[in-house]
Amino acid sequence: MTMPMPAVFFGHGNPMNAVLDNAYSRGWAAIGKAIPRPVAVLSVSAHWYIPGTFVTAMPAPQTIHDFGGFPQELYRIEYPAPGDPALADRVRDMLAPMSVEPDGRWGLDHGTWTVLRHVFPRADIPVVQLSIDKRQPAEYHYEVGKRLAPLRDEGVLIVGSGNLVHNLHAYAWGRHGAEPFDWAVRFENQARDLLLSANDGPLIAYETLGRDADLSIPTPDHYLPLLYVIALRREGDPVRFPVEGVDGGSVSMLAVTVG
Ligand code: ZN
Repeated sequence: MTMPMPAVFFGHGNPMNAVLDNAYSRGWAAIGKAIPRPVAVLSVSAHWYIPGTFVTAMPAPQTIHDFGGFPQELYRIEYPAPGDPALADRVRDMLAPMSVEPDGRWGLDHGTWTVLRHVFPRADIPVVQLSIDKRQPAEYHYEVGKRLAPLRDEGVLIVGSGNLVHNLHAYAWGRHGAEPFDWAVRFENQARDLLLSANDGPLIAYETLGRDADLSIPTPDHYLPLLYVIALRREGDPVRFPVEGVDGGSVSMLAVTVG
């Protein structure tokens, strides 16, 4: 019997991490080396947060440079991983009767490729993205994650890409070493404790956790990918934090592996 694949939440942070050699990018590369080689990657990115559930179904997804104001070198990067239309079909079957539409227009957004470029630098593992339906509450996203659990036994690496703490109003642009805000540290610590004790309820009901959570999660897009990943945890699965740090004072770079 083969071991189930782990699932990983990546804090992707600043798109420049795609080209930087820093503790985050080195940590992502180390994750890629530590886990079994997956047959495919299914990525839930904060940057495909739209009304509806879609799954990329094209054989060759484009690299989307969905950001503004960064150096030209970042716009020239391509991550030419193939798609996996069969996996897209499988995801649609697994989530039925939920409506999941095949998509031929999106591709790999920067939530996915800025990280995978370090995790799987050869870009030779097929990648499929699943959108986050912005009309739905947190419990819904957790339930979708649960439904995807059998993919772990099929060699598929399920990835969530966002940031546990993501407050760009407070972010110190250009000062990556800025001291973390106390509310960011407190919320990250609270979340770590909940993750380590497999106490998913409060993580799903994050809107009830008070001011630290409100400041850490001003909008749900970067937080929700975490719920897909923790929903995949099975009894006895270890939870680890292989990448840590708070960038610019208000963006948690915490990575969370399950399994
Ligand atoms: Zn982002």
